[in-house]
Amino acid sequence: MSDPLTTVTSVFIKRCPGCGGIRGSLCDGCRVRFVGGRFTGVCFDAGTVTGRALSPYDEFAQRVVLAAKNGGRTDVLQDLGLLAASICVDTSSSGDASTIVTWIPSSRSGWRTRGYDQGRVLACAVARGMRRAHPGQSGARVRPGRLLRRVDRGQQTGRSRTERLVGPTLRWLGTETIDRLIIVDDVVTTGSSLQAAVSLARANGARQVDAVALAAVA
Ligand SMILES: [Zn+2]
Repeated sequence: MSDPLTTVTSVFIKRCPGCGGIRGSLCDGCRVRFVGGRFTGVCFDAGTVTGRALSPYDEFAQRVVLAAKNGGRTDVLQDLGLLAASICVDTSSSGDASTIVTWIPSSRSGWRTRGYDQGRVLACAVARGMRRAHPGQSGARVRPGRLLRRVDRGQQTGRSRTERLVGPTLRWLGTETIDRLIIVDDVVTTGSSLQAAVSLARANGARQVDAVALAAVA
């Protein structure tokens, strides 16, 4: 894939966004620091939705996630997605069920600025990480899928808290019945986007719905 943003940023030296120390994506030390040494995630409670995040949204998590989201670092997003797969596998209850990993879509302006939808990058990495953790039959049944479409044109960043509480208007694109759905998001603040997504998924017959984020505001 040649996306213009990657082409432009690849001329710069990419360093670990956590410590700035080494070339490449998140270093081992910063991976452990990001998950607080747990690899089991932290629970978050956002209105009607509970889920798991890799980390509380503290200063360190903010630095890493913002670098991944706004700095064109799809390599870091992919690493974080692979890490997030570990908390998805933990919450799995039915190994035989087919699983779809979907994402809260970026606003049109965010997508245009970055050149990619960070949610899609994350969801693909989560699905890949889950397949790796469970190679064989059940693992092969985990796949990413675009199930949500955003119908507003607004961007969450820069909106007031009241506006963000309302969240984006989402539309369901699915046509099949889903055994298990994992909805990934980068940062959960008010949880309004996730609540809208989870409600839609349940209304459209998804049997088990799990919400997973990179970081969540406590
Ligand atoms: Zn580092």
